[in-house]
Amino acid sequence: MPIKVADRGDPSLRGAVDGPGGGHGTSRPCALSAACAPRIKGQLLIARFDYLSDVHGTQAAARVLEALSAEDIGLLRSLVREAWYPFALLMRLDRTLARLLAGGDPSFFEELGRHSARHRTEWLGEHAALVSVHAFLSRVADQHRSFHDFGRASYQRTGFHSGELAFRDYPEVDEAFCGSSRGYFRGVLKLLTDGAAEVVEAACQCRRDAACLFRLRW
Ligand SMILES: [Zn+2]
Repeated sequence: MPIKVADRGDPSLRGAVDGPGGGHGTSRPCALSAACAPRIKGQLLIARFDYLSDVHGTQAAARVLEALSAEDIGLLRSLVREAWYPFALLMRLDRTLARLLAGGDPSFFEELGRHSARHRTEWLGEHAALVSVHAFLSRVADQHRSFHDFGRASYQRTGFHSGELAFRDYPEVDEAFCGSSRGYFRGVLKLLTDGAAEVVEAACQCRRDAACLFRLRW
């Protein structure tokens, strides 16, 4: 059963480790300890600071950092795109952003996700409308382990303009992460199709379902 990040009494902070060989693998003792806490790539954290400077100005990052622990600040001040960081650090950052910028409004996480969609699709530029949405979403699933060292992802085409992304086997879950994922997929569909799109999380690991299942229609 996955653990909700918010339920962890003593959230782990192992610090960043360069590369997937940095302590991850079968040699890591895997209990509910810091040694096997799930991790994400620095790129996801960097996208939060890009959002801050793009939308809230250059002073916003300093305000957010002030609200975090010294240990978190140490990690966030020297972010490396390709290094691994604790998933729990991303969640603490996202919740701090929501509290300071949106009075804790849970819909804020979707806004964060929508903004980061721009980063993963911006290389498509003016050709975005020509890229197959199915191909892009299939790549999102294939690349899941490039950005997260936990869980499994799969994509299934369900119609000409619809598909399903499923994420499962998460050791920790957080509604905030599912919210930013929904926003991210909405952002991707908007950028790729420039039309009306619908994203529904039909099942969710936070509700003890076997997977977070996103139904997408465009
Ligand atoms: Zn979910």
